[in-house]
Amino acid sequence: MASLLGNLFILAAPSGAGKSSLIKALLEKHPQPERFPMQVSVSHTTRAPRPGETDGVHYHFVSHETFEALIEQGVFFEYAEVFGNYYGTSRVTIEQTLHKGIDVFLDIDWQGARQVKALMPDTCTVFILPPSLEVLQQRLTGRGQDSDEVIAGRMREAVSEMSHYDEFDYVIINDDFTDALAELESIVMAQRLRLNKQQLRHAALVQGLLGNNER
Ligand code: 5GP
Repeated sequence: MASLLGNLFILAAPSGAGKSSLIKALLEKHPQPERFPMQVSVSHTTRAPRPGETDGVHYHFVSHETFEALIEQGVFFEYAEVFGNYYGTSRVTIEQTLHKGIDVFLDIDWQGARQVKALMPDTCTVFILPPSLEVLQQRLTGRGQDSDEVIAGRMREAVSEMSHYDEFDYVIINDDFTDALAELESIVMAQRLRLNKQQLRHAALVQGLLGNNER
């Protein structure tokens, strides 16, 4: 898979760190750019849809049995159990999209990131941290979708997720959203301009510029 034209990015964070908002803002700011098209991968999950979530848009919502059948069929590029539910990324969709030269963003947890990095070492992995536990708690409470008990559980899970921040290539502190978005854009652009991908993307240009003089 070393010669895939598109770049694979992973964004991980504890729930409430602002990961989904950052990815959404990144895509809205760069809608279908000609130079660097990008997509967010839609995962499969066994968890129930939250209010406002649509099947096929936010997730492919499937039963436990279906998910386990898909595991057996080798459908997943990576999968993990998070908060008692299965989550997984479809292999075919990722590979086909990267083949077309479209960058793919995975919003997955540290377990998935570890699996993908082992399969594709040039994946660019980014961890988003909140500025404090207090802010994280406010953000989780602010959603108003979960009970106190669920929020307390998610705070414990958040600390557990954050303990893996040092397995990632880059770390962004999401204190000021505009700053965090600019930092994410810088990481994304630097990754896109790496030599191996530019050589693939611009092979004809380099041939035209250097002719037979390429060393
Ligand atoms: P939520 O249920 O809040 O949407 O997601 C819970 C956690 O599961 C988040 O950390 C999210 O990034 C992670 N997650 C979502 N999709 C996937 C996936 O396909 N694979 C893995 N490993 N984690 C995922």
